[in-house]
Amino acid sequence: MIEDYIRDIPDFPKEGILFKDITPLLADPDGLRQAIDALADLVDPSEYDTIVGIESRGFIFGTALAYKLNKGFIPVRKPGKLPSATASVTYDLEYGSDTLEIHLDALQPGERVLILDDLLATGGTIEACIQLIKQVNAVAVGAAFVLELGFLNGRARMGDVPAHTLVLA
Ligand code: AMP
Repeated sequence: MIEDYIRDIPDFPKEGILFKDITPLLADPDGLRQAIDALADLVDPSEYDTIVGIESRGFIFGTALAYKLNKGFIPVRKPGKLPSATASVTYDLEYGSDTLEIHLDALQPGERVLILDDLLATGGTIEACIQLIKQVNAVAVGAAFVLELGFLNGRARMGDVPAHTLVLA
């Protein structure tokens, strides 16, 4: 079971957070293969043209899935990392704010995108990413996650974009 490879680290990165550590899943050949195969089964590849992954754990699952499904991969990054012209979205965190960026020419108008991240918590990150994709005139047709913290109801911030998750915690 995929959840058997994910460990809980209490009070990381700060007190009161139960951090879901996916590094044991990545380190195990069977776990990693199961996770990528299961993600591939969650979604219909004919419904999207390309995969967008959110830095940094979305890169790991996103590129592996893109390879398996013969899609391209586009990184959404933290500010100042992408070398060419970017679009950006700034969103609120519990304390302060964060920014996500994408290359302006990474997606064609109307291109259909599947977004990948490791975990859906409050939904702030995915909401910002959906906004970013809209900003460049592409279409987020779905988002896939290895883990969802269901009690935080992150789906409520995704509008009509469906969430596909492997493990509900
Ligand atoms: P959110 O914006 O609240 O949905 O948080 C999602 C992002 O924060 C994802 O990119 C996760 O990698 C990370 N994250 C949030 N909460 C946790 C947690 N409890 N354990 C591991 N990662 C988390």
